[in-house]
Amino acid sequence: MVPPRVIIGMMMHETNTFSTVKTTLKDFDPHYDQELVRALKGTRSGIGGFIEVLARHGAEIIPTIGASATPSGPLTNKDYHRIVNTIIKVITETSDVDGVLLALHGAMIAEDVPDAEGTLLKKIRETLGPKVPIIITLDLHALISKLMVDNCDAIFGYDTNPHIDMYERGVEAAETIIKTIKGEITPVVAFRKLPMLPPTINQRTTEGPMVKLLEKARRYEESDKVLNVCIFPAFPYADVERVGSAVVAVTDANLELAQHICDELGDAMFDCREEFLKPLTSIGEAVNRAIMAPEGPIILADVADNPGGGAPGDGTEILRELIKRKAKNVGVACIKDPEAVVKAIEVGVLGQFDMRIGAKTDSNHGEPIRVKGTIRTITDGRFVHKSMAVGVTADVGRTAVIDIDGIEVILTERSHAPNDPEIFRRNGIEPTDKKILLLKSRGHFRAAYEPFSKEVIEVDGPGLTSPNLQRFTYSKIPRPIWPFDKI
Ligand SMILES: [Zn+2]
Repeated sequence: MVPPRVIIGMMMHETNTFSTVKTTLKDFDPHYDQELVRALKGTRSGIGGFIEVLARHGAEIIPTIGASATPSGPLTNKDYHRIVNTIIKVITETSDVDGVLLALHGAMIAEDVPDAEGTLLKKIRETLGPKVPIIITLDLHALISKLMVDNCDAIFGYDTNPHIDMYERGVEAAETIIKTIKGEITPVVAFRKLPMLPPTINQRTTEGPMVKLLEKARRYEESDKVLNVCIFPAFPYADVERVGSAVVAVTDANLELAQHICDELGDAMFDCREEFLKPLTSIGEAVNRAIMAPEGPIILADVADNPGGGAPGDGTEILRELIKRKAKNVGVACIKDPEAVVKAIEVGVLGQFDMRIGAKTDSNHGEPIRVKGTIRTITDGRFVHKSMAVGVTADVGRTAVIDIDGIEVILTERSHAPNDPEIFRRNGIEPTDKKILLLKSRGHFRAAYEPFSKEVIEVDGPGLTSPNLQRFTYSKIPRPIWPFDKI
């Protein structure tokens, strides 16, 4: 048998439409052609899973582009079309394509393209026709649309949050496409969209309502006819028509069954919508509790300024309170402030630093704060992930640590959600030794930090990823929708 030819690619961005930071192709640091395989082969990423399975089955891997960026504002139209055109060009120039495997985020928005994934998939479908299977993996925060579902054959969404199963879903998607190409199965996909917009704060998969919903999903999957059931609580910080939670089911040639599962599970999800809400702790109370705690590390989670959700990661209000209360033995990751990094490099290690830092991206994250301290370390900001995307190199730009009388603040050139404690170690701070850790992250940090922390306090600070959705002005989302309207 001729080896199957499978196109692979990755286009991942979670777009926060409230962010004023425009996203460009440069932010994706894209890999093209065989470089994509070289860079991601052997990693625990979705593409790593694709490559491993396809290679095992002797398939011919045809790479397109691997583009993944930190969440931020909408992508420029020009750069979005560059990514799409790169993929379409490879597909057009490849004869006898047997299948397409894409690792997508599912909540990507370009300036004039509110459904970046659906639009891409439609173009691929138009190019290849209805017979070539297109199978995708999606983030649990994807905004499922009819356009997406209509233009692919199967969807594998992450089942974990923090997302530690990207590789596993990549493996499943690749195995499914191989079986489809061999004619062993015919995947069909259905979905059900729900008029609910839960904040991301309680979308974790180890506690809260997702636990029982995922259990139900697993029970449906016990049937041979059911290939996959996934739940998308979705990303709420996008003012577009396709927001809202969704359920997706993939079966072997039984669309009616797939739809039935989506409807049943969708009803169950909608019924427990209130359970997605969670109270937060005020800045003053949170800092006080952390200082008074007998033992650390106590984690202060700055959930509203989470670069993992498109916030700049330069908010200052919790840091201001820590300094005011003279907290000691504190690690802060991170404050994005390229100007401050330049200054830190100028004064050098052990040099004295005195300037206003943070809150320079927009007016939603407090005021810049004047700090005086000693520069402890300066690095290139590159480290290899040991948690989540294990093996993948992170690059947060040049980085400096300033010690403000016992509060060590990591200053970075780029926005970064410190979900991997390696960001501390790379910069000379041992996070397990700290009494207090202030993290700009909503929840992905839990996978690596919870095992060694004494308590996690979710703080009600200002910012673009605040769980309090009433802080945002939406104009394009469908109404009525919970929690804004009574349904
Ligand atoms: Zn996500």
